[in-house]
Amino acid sequence: MHTWPAPSLPTIPGRGLAVHVRDSLTGALVLGSPGPVATLYVCGITPYDATHLGHAATYIAFDLLHRAWLDAGLEVSYASNVTDVDDPLLERAAQTGVDWEQLALEQTALFAQDMTALAVLPPHTYLGAVETIPTVVSTVERLLAGGQAYRVPVEPGAGGSRPDLGDVYADVSVDPAVGHVEGLDHDETVALFGERGGDPDRAGKRDPLDPALWRRERPGEPSWDGGVLGTGRPGWHIECTVIAEQALGASFDVQGGGRDLCFPHHEMSAAHARALGAPGARAHVHTGMVGLGGEKMSKSLGNLVLVSVLREQGVDPMAIRLAVLAHHYREDWDWTDEVLATAQRRLERWRSAVSGNGGPDAGSTVEAIRTALADDLDAPSALRAVDTWCDASLSVGGDVIGAPGVLARSVDALLGVRV
Ligand code: ZN
Repeated sequence: MHTWPAPSLPTIPGRGLAVHVRDSLTGALVLGSPGPVATLYVCGITPYDATHLGHAATYIAFDLLHRAWLDAGLEVSYASNVTDVDDPLLERAAQTGVDWEQLALEQTALFAQDMTALAVLPPHTYLGAVETIPTVVSTVERLLAGGQAYRVPVEPGAGGSRPDLGDVYADVSVDPAVGHVEGLDHDETVALFGERGGDPDRAGKRDPLDPALWRRERPGEPSWDGGVLGTGRPGWHIECTVIAEQALGASFDVQGGGRDLCFPHHEMSAAHARALGAPGARAHVHTGMVGLGGEKMSKSLGNLVLVSVLREQGVDPMAIRLAVLAHHYREDWDWTDEVLATAQRRLERWRSAVSGNGGPDAGSTVEAIRTALADDLDAPSALRAVDTWCDASLSVGGDVIGAPGVLARSVDALLGVRV
């Protein structure tokens, strides 16, 4: 899978601080990476309806982490995926009468264009589900051999020439860490599993929460050779487990994604990793939900604001990025015209404040940006520090030659905003 081009990173004076992030599983503020190589896995898109503001907010949040790590002198290894075959993609293709591969290709390309426009640093490893199938197959074979997975008979007509092989499910009931979603009892957890793509009612499973690892061939659905598993396609959670381990090793620093991925996706991916003897992520970091009109922006509700549509309307992508950064990544917030208008005014003000040769000294502002980012990626505080410098530059000016350039390069390198 091709990534998008990397934006150039300006060199700035000094060195960033060690970055701490909030681990969703424990609630603790933890060191993001001990270094010297910081490793990050962020769940990628299922390529349809890309890129809505919720996606943008997630990838911009982890882009801040990536940039702060680089500024702190760490080497970064960042991996992500594209779920280029899965139930929601096939359902959308069927509903709209579009070929599913064409839909996936177009939406993956659009996502890359949006990420380029938003100045998001690309992942170093970027893999699609389809190209990962051989590794998923060998991994599922290991889980079957180890007794952590089992076959479930398929309905008549499914399974191609080998219907006897059945689908393969992970036996997560053997893992005591699975299925304890905070504040929910077992029935509510099972219901949430169903709402978020699981199949709790599937007959033949050992536990309603067991997720599919390998789905056998079905009439009208694409399938691939799965060796002893039979023809079929991979489950979503094992896809991310396999790609993360392949790219980053058995243990890595941060697993990231939107908060709605916490359960079941990240919980199941982590369970698969444990079943394979891998510790998985040291910290799970989740971003808040972006809403529209008081409701979560989601594909199922159809209330999406797309980055590509805003760009077509002539909105500066840097204003979109500033609108996102005005909210802490863990916050739930609503996209409104006023949020965008405020960001556009801020961008104009920043641009006019850095337009001169001289200005107030920028050193303490750069340090304030670094301090804010090191404290759980506090972008709103970083933006306020830049506002303060711009206010001073525009009102009283300053005589430090080159200060506006230092400020502009720092805002570019650390916040990804080109002024
Ligand atoms: Zn994932």
